[in-house]
Amino acid sequence: MHSRCDLACDHCYIYEHADQTWRGRPREIAPETVDAAATRIAEHAREHGLRRIHLVLHGGEPLLLGTAGLAMVLTRLRAAIEPVAELDLRMQSNGVLLTPQLCDLLVEHGVQVGISLDGDAAANDRHRRFAGGASSHVQVRRALALLRRPEYRHNYAGILCTIDVRNDPIRVYEALLAEAPPRIDLLLPHATWNSLPPRPDGAATPYADWLLRIYRRWIRDDKPVDIRLFDSLLATGVGERSGTESVGLDPAGLAVIETDGAWELADSMKTAFDGAAGTGLDVFRHSADALASHPEFARSQRGLARLCQTCRDCPVVGQCGGGLRAHRYSDADGFDNPSVYCADLKHLITSMNREPGPGAARIAVAAGLGGPGGDLLLDGLPAGDLLDDLGAGHGSAANLRRLAAAQLGYLRGLLVQLADRIAGTPVAAAWDLIARLDEEAPDVVSAVFAHPYLRRWARRCLAPPVGDSPDWAHLGALAAAVAIRAGANADLEVPLRSGLVQLPGLGALGLDEPGERSARLSVAGGGFTARAGRSAVMVPPTGSAPPPATWLPLRSVGLGGWEILVEDLDPYRDCHEWPVAVRLDPARLTSWRRSLAGAWTRIQRHVPGQVPGLRVGLRAVTPLRGDPTGRLLSAASRDAFGAVGTVLAAPDPLAELLVHEFQHVKLGAVLDLSLLYDPAYPRRLTVPWRNEPRPLEGALQGTYAHLAIAELWRARPGGQARQHYRRYRGWTARTIDELAATGALTEHGERFVGRMRETVDSWSDDPR
Ligand code: SF4
Ligand code: SF4
Repeated sequence: MHSRCDLACDHCYIYEHADQTWRGRPREIAPETVDAAATRIAEHAREHGLRRIHLVLHGGEPLLLGTAGLAMVLTRLRAAIEPVAELDLRMQSNGVLLTPQLCDLLVEHGVQVGISLDGDAAANDRHRRFAGGASSHVQVRRALALLRRPEYRHNYAGILCTIDVRNDPIRVYEALLAEAPPRIDLLLPHATWNSLPPRPDGAATPYADWLLRIYRRWIRDDKPVDIRLFDSLLATGVGERSGTESVGLDPAGLAVIETDGAWELADSMKTAFDGAAGTGLDVFRHSADALASHPEFARSQRGLARLCQTCRDCPVVGQCGGGLRAHRYSDADGFDNPSVYCADLKHLITSMNREPGPGAARIAVAAGLGGPGGDLLLDGLPAGDLLDDLGAGHGSAANLRRLAAAQLGYLRGLLVQLADRIAGTPVAAAWDLIARLDEEAPDVVSAVFAHPYLRRWARRCLAPPVGDSPDWAHLGALAAAVAIRAGANADLEVPLRSGLVQLPGLGALGLDEPGERSARLSVAGGGFTARAGRSAVMVPPTGSAPPPATWLPLRSVGLGGWEILVEDLDPYRDCHEWPVAVRLDPARLTSWRRSLAGAWTRIQRHVPGQVPGLRVGLRAVTPLRGDPTGRLLSAASRDAFGAVGTVLAAPDPLAELLVHEFQHVKLGAVLDLSLLYDPAYPRRLTVPWRNEPRPLEGALQGTYAHLAIAELWRARPGGQARQHYRRYRGWTARTIDELAATGALTEHGERFVGRMRETVDSWSDDPR
């Protein structure tokens, strides 16, 4: 927005580091440049169907534009982009010029404002000074006080703090906390192998040591604020996205537009060498797609393939991702180095993984496999065993139990995050009850948490889809399910959806109170009474007395020593690609029972190796709405471990659908634990079972499913079965070769795919 600044911070990477291109740029962005930029962004959103664009107004100092200049920019951006996509507008400022008038303008345009502050006065004054050397601390704190006012608070995005290890970390933390920011960003000072970061007294890991002192205090304080670096490393530790360009392997999807309209790479690159962020493209002549296909832009993306061998072999690369690209630069090797903060990052990540915090302690189970290689453990057992066992195509009962335990750890991690968000709200009482019962009856809590669709609900609460708000109230229903199964006493508010109180894993109760959106549940002795409006309905403990007619229990099918739920109630079951069926009537349920029993007989006969894993890992079948053309629809969801969605089919095809989808369930759980491939691998693979090329994960998933289907047809009699077997075996073998040829598989990935290959190679062309 503005290429100059009213401060002269000596650690500023825009003015004080290698890149000096700011000198030749216009001071202010011109209206026609704003229009061209906005047009390019809108065009890109339209062409790619993007529903949301994140735009950060940056500088230099964007407030130097003044009220009129900013109003011009904001009005033009909104006018061009909002008809196409939702616009998430932010601004990063030093705050010196912030006034109530400017705040009013930013509120009017919905701009979230982040302010830079390095800690208390002494810490901030080390670097953040005016050109004459005067402190900026008073002005910056005044800006923060302004943003804390009730009328502006909503637009206060947080504080950005650049680390100087000479400052006491706890004093910095407390000074930042005192400003009540919604979020803190702790940034490593930009440095390269040419220009090393200061390491006072020659300490080996001063940045990790500094950050860990804050981390441990933050955990002790029960995480009073989001700290992005810690949140990102904890998230990547359980296979979530990092949400930042500084750590992790996710593609960044970030471009910079300068005041002259130049398209540039992330501005941290300016620390590497003069012109390092440049592409030669601009918004007047080039689209965002042209930028995306620019070789430098492609090279600057995150991902394993763009890392040096040391990083590729590193056990924490899934979390670290080699740090910021700019921090890997040296004149001698370009970016083909580990981060200049490598020792710090490794020490920070391994320490955090060992100390994930009390509430998140069980996340550690899920974090066990985090890296791409190495001798890692899961539940104290070598992870390689699990990869070998699952990769060969089946999965033992013991390994399925390990996957289920890791999924439970994953869900618990999500719930801890969710509990942080609801602290102080009325829903927090439901969480407190769950936490208490987790101490008193942990097995009951774990049994309820094992229900497949809770993860989907928790994830949608933490990151609701555009236009949705978090369904915190469902936590009341979850707490009620726990209390009922534990035989505890409780009084809870639960949502009433379309006249139903839905209790995960138990069933639903109809209450004829159309105007009501919630009900009060009094739980005691394994039963409960629900009240809403003028209705009060009692559901007695199971087996003690007949339930009311409006109680719809979740039903199951006994399959000789184990049971599978027919999940036709859960409000979060609709995640299987195709529409789900409504509650089955008795006749339809009977048909399902018959087909499932028949399918199970066939699975036992034709793929006995799948039986132990299915008995442990498959908890629920979710009926899908039938396709009018009779097409056999089925799907699994990464967010629903233990569930398979399928239409009703005859036993033979149903056996095939169940085995196929359960392969996806298993592989999804493995992918939650282990980095099998480079997530930033850009190419799509041609696969024989689809017309259009598939992303690498899709190709891997399809191959794993077809491996099991080939085995199933291998055991079936008849000429047609032989043909099917040859087709599936051929597809599997061919795509295994494709996957191996990408070079994008990690050591774990090569091991997993190698076992698949061994299985296929052990089968002859003739099935018998
Ligand atoms: S306020 Fe920001 S842009 Fe301005 S000199 Fe300081 S670090 Fe650089
Ligand atoms: S810790 Fe070091 S070696 Fe490992 S990924 Fe990060 S920079 Fe690379």
